[in-house]
Amino acid sequence: MTMGNYNLVVVTGAGGFIGGNLISTLRTQGYKQIRAVDVKPLEEWCQRFDDVENLSLDLNLGENCEIASKDAYEVYNLAANMGGMGFIERNKALCMLSVLINTHMLQAALKYGVKRFFYSSSACVYNADKQKAFEAPSLKEADAYPALAEDGYGWEKLFSERMCRHFHEDFGLYTRVARFHNVYGPWGTWYGGREKAPAAICRKVIEAKVSGKHEIDIWGPGNQTRSFMFIEDCIKGINLIMNSEVPEPINLGSSEAVTINQLVDIVEEIAGIKLMRTYDLSAPKGVNGRNSDNTLIKEYLNWEPNTTLRIGLEKTYRWIYDQYVGRERAEGGVIRESAAAR
Ligand code: NAD
Repeated sequence: MTMGNYNLVVVTGAGGFIGGNLISTLRTQGYKQIRAVDVKPLEEWCQRFDDVENLSLDLNLGENCEIASKDAYEVYNLAANMGGMGFIERNKALCMLSVLINTHMLQAALKYGVKRFFYSSSACVYNADKQKAFEAPSLKEADAYPALAEDGYGWEKLFSERMCRHFHEDFGLYTRVARFHNVYGPWGTWYGGREKAPAAICRKVIEAKVSGKHEIDIWGPGNQTRSFMFIEDCIKGINLIMNSEVPEPINLGSSEAVTINQLVDIVEEIAGIKLMRTYDLSAPKGVNGRNSDNTLIKEYLNWEPNTTLRIGLEKTYRWIYDQYVGRERAEGGVIRESAAAR
């Protein structure tokens, strides 16, 4: 990444988890002109910085994408309507409507001569038939085809990443696409229904610790496998990929696969407690197994996400613990009650 770059950089989805962390890093890297855009009202952004141009705009609308992209040198397009399995399995149409954001952002980037465009795709583009085994099949980039993506959210991602490819081939727009695999860490959603497994499990273990009720409910049979990428690796990967020669969609994920039970083991260890586990087999659980094959990223960038799950979860657990205790104090136990209802 160029230090001290005075050109305007735009981050969409800036009020969200990854967007906020990206802006935080760009600022420390010397970027002076950053425009942050999100549909949420400013007071609801995960992180907000006063030295950044913060805009609350609905990027489903073409005219707002033009306001967002005007004079931009680089665009990091991270805005999407999304969440964990509980959200994407129940909101397929809403997830697919993110195609409006991606279409309009690409068109606006072209109109305003944006030099580099980054798009955040997802491991949910991979063919479901290749994720039936519980032994965490490592998915390489070619496994997205023949297409049988995660219904709703995954199909939209696959379509939008192809649109990036064709905007490059047909119109010459510089596009870079990363397929993120489960990102977690401080500032990630940890309650409310959009949270993902690592944050949800940290929260449930904290609830058990604080309440003294040493039980945990786990979505699915517990032997589903996944890999989880710590946010700092994700941000480093975004920077590397944006400035790379990688023309095609590339995995950005950890290759340390664990079962959901192992994930719970680690969080229990961090918390210093053991819990009685019950398994909710009717809950959304996603595919059986998924891991990131990092051959391509190692070839291109000589790097792969390498923060161990233990280290990343310790930081995440501590962060969620502080949020939880702070909110419990402020709201008199409301978090505990509403979470218990789910
Ligand atoms: P997030 O939900 O925290 O952030 C996304 C942001 O986009 C939200 O703040 C939301 O308000 C905003 N947004 C939604 N609709 C919008 C609209 N119409 N106009 C403007 N802003 C809008 O999610 P995140 O984890 O930060 O994810 C960022 C990107 O990475 C998304 O594209 C997501 O699909 C992708 N991704 C994330 C993960 C992960 O594990 N977090 C995995 C794969 C892909």
